[in-house]
Amino acid sequence: MDSSSLLTVLNELYSQYKSLQEGTVANYIPELAKVNPELFSICIVTVDGQIYKVGDYEHFFTIQSISKVFAYGLALEDHGRDYILTRVGVEPTGDAFNAIILDEQSKRPYNPMVNAGAIATTSLIKGSDPTERLNRMLEMFKRYIGRDMLVDISIFTSERSTGHRNRAMAHLMLNFGMIDRNIEEALDLYFQQCAVMVNCQDLAVMAATLANRGMNPITKVQAVDKPHIKDILSVMYTCGMYNFAGEWAYKIGIPAKSGICGGIIAVVPNKMGIGVFSPPLDARGNSVRGVKVCEELSQRLGLHLFDCLGQEAKFGIGD
Ligand code: GLU
Repeated sequence: MDSSSLLTVLNELYSQYKSLQEGTVANYIPELAKVNPELFSICIVTVDGQIYKVGDYEHFFTIQSISKVFAYGLALEDHGRDYILTRVGVEPTGDAFNAIILDEQSKRPYNPMVNAGAIATTSLIKGSDPTERLNRMLEMFKRYIGRDMLVDISIFTSERSTGHRNRAMAHLMLNFGMIDRNIEEALDLYFQQCAVMVNCQDLAVMAATLANRGMNPITKVQAVDKPHIKDILSVMYTCGMYNFAGEWAYKIGIPAKSGICGGIIAVVPNKMGIGVFSPPLDARGNSVRGVKVCEELSQRLGLHLFDCLGQEAKFGIGD
């Protein structure tokens, strides 16, 4: 497929789904409920640095759960895979992202893509004090995105003052020795990580960086050590889309991560990163338009990882 046809596909999907009025925006973090539900953007960045975008791709929003992917990468770099596996599992849960559950036997949270696992992962980020840990986190995001990162303070404080469910999970993990650090400090870093501001183009660049073996295709900065890419993509594939992860893998077939901000990133290894942003969510917490767009992109471009016929027949960008 050539460049103008890919842009045509994005424009078609944008027009097709712009009028879809299903879903509701997340409101359990009071500040998040203020978002305009009409915002909608789709962006693709290829591993050779081409950018295709449509809609409100410059609008900033907080990254929310999509951050979990990248914090997991930083924790893997800080401690290595074997140690991280002793603290956070890699099993899909089939439960909601905010379920207060741990693996009965190991007492680990099930995986780093649900809240409990992400809080445990973030509590492992190295640094001598909260400021150094936050700075290391922001530097990590900067490598993926290519500019200085900001935290949305009103969303951070809104979640910090209402996030008692996450606080309950953190206490449960403290009880079982899965978190050693001061709970409030660990939660603050987790809430700050969720409140990092991005736009839809940033999402696609971050996804393209993962697709490009950890090197940002625009800045050429290595954002994460190559050996961790397969671990990151594996948990995205099996656990990234809340309790829709199995159906997503079956139908759409590429590693992805969703956030209650209404963002989705999807990674086509060695080809491209996809970012979609549209705040109204379905019952499982995934962007309604985002899922539709990714489903159709997967079909039209033959992106499903196991669809060998589709890939041979339809998709040539980056080849
Ligand atoms: N900050 C949100 C929470 O912890 C993120 C949830 C999400 O995007 O799935 O509840």
